[in-house]
Amino acid sequence: MSQVVDHLAELTGFRDRDVMDVTLVMALRDLLEPESVAIYRTVGEVGHERWLTRAHLRAGDAVASADPLWAKPEALPLVTTHPLRLEAMRTRAVTQVAQGGQWLYLFPIATDRDVVGVIEILSTRRLGTGAQRMVSSVLRIYHNFQGLLDYSERDTLTGLLNRKTFDESFLKVLSDIPVKHEVRHEAEDRRHETATPHYVLGVIDIDHFKSVNDRFGHLIGDEVLLLLSRLMRGSFRFHDLLYRFGGEEFVVLMRCDEEIHAGEAFERLRLNTERYAFPQVGRITVSIGFTEVRAGDAPAAAFERADKAVYHAKANGRNQVHNYAALVASGIIQEATQLSDVELF
Ligand code: GH3
Ligand code: MG
Ligand code: MG
Repeated sequence: MSQVVDHLAELTGFRDRDVMDVTLVMALRDLLEPESVAIYRTVGEVGHERWLTRAHLRAGDAVASADPLWAKPEALPLVTTHPLRLEAMRTRAVTQVAQGGQWLYLFPIATDRDVVGVIEILSTRRLGTGAQRMVSSVLRIYHNFQGLLDYSERDTLTGLLNRKTFDESFLKVLSDIPVKHEVRHEAEDRRHETATPHYVLGVIDIDHFKSVNDRFGHLIGDEVLLLLSRLMRGSFRFHDLLYRFGGEEFVVLMRCDEEIHAGEAFERLRLNTERYAFPQVGRITVSIGFTEVRAGDAPAAAFERADKAVYHAKANGRNQVHNYAALVASGIIQEATQLSDVELF
């Protein structure tokens, strides 16, 4: 019993979801001593969902393995490759199957909104009802705690992250960006470029949203915001951070191998929005601006650059995606003077 309580204390001691998932599989391994225990989540666009391994631990493993957060969706197995997991998610019930002299248990993981994945336990021994109930109870605590995290970190209408959590994530991203050195050999530069991730911040603003409210009322306006958040989820990857910043303004913090991919992703969202038939309202468009996150950037500075690109889109007909760097390079907008430069003189 005290072992269970210790694990629960451990589990709820973190606010980081990656760490929580690893802690959960470690707790279940210590408590049940199975052959293996893993957490799988479904990710990707509806109709093309795949399994993302959040944490996987075998009997002798010292550390849990997991798919990298930046795993390419194409590299992950399609959900249809594991029908038993899907069945447990669909029925929302614990599924138990005899498999080659072992027992396989699948426990669905649900949030308030959805069933998002499964815990898979492979054991040589059959789990009694007491053990199964214990796993379900641990999962309920895990679920309640995730709900509390969601409550403080997410926007209630859309379920996207709220503005409060932006600065912290931004600073995490910054710690992943290497500071560029002035003198470096060309070959080294090239090698570095392939290995260095790019982080991009995008600002999305709905076009003429005030008129949607004026013509159809706030409730319909709110539904448009909810539907747009779904289009955003479908247009970006699992690990991209999606925020509702304020009324009808959204922010995306994404990682990509090359900056050009960011432009493609934003263009995909622009097109998906333009093509979507919003109930009652009909067609809606968005204006998008984006900028690369630079080493030593301040969250507000990066936001302001992307916002300038949005402003340019608004002033030039809306329903467009603009890259801040391209606008500066073509002389359309001027690079803002760094505050530190001003202070120097
Ligand atoms: P533009 O194309 O220049 O962006 O025009 P706009 O009308 O979208 O721009 P503006 O930023 O001036 O207006 C935003 C409007 O969004 C004001 C308000 O009516 C509406 N709004 C802000 N927050 C909410 C919300 O939470 N729900 C709803 N329904 N409407 C909101
Ligand atoms: Mg606005
Ligand atoms: Mg607007």
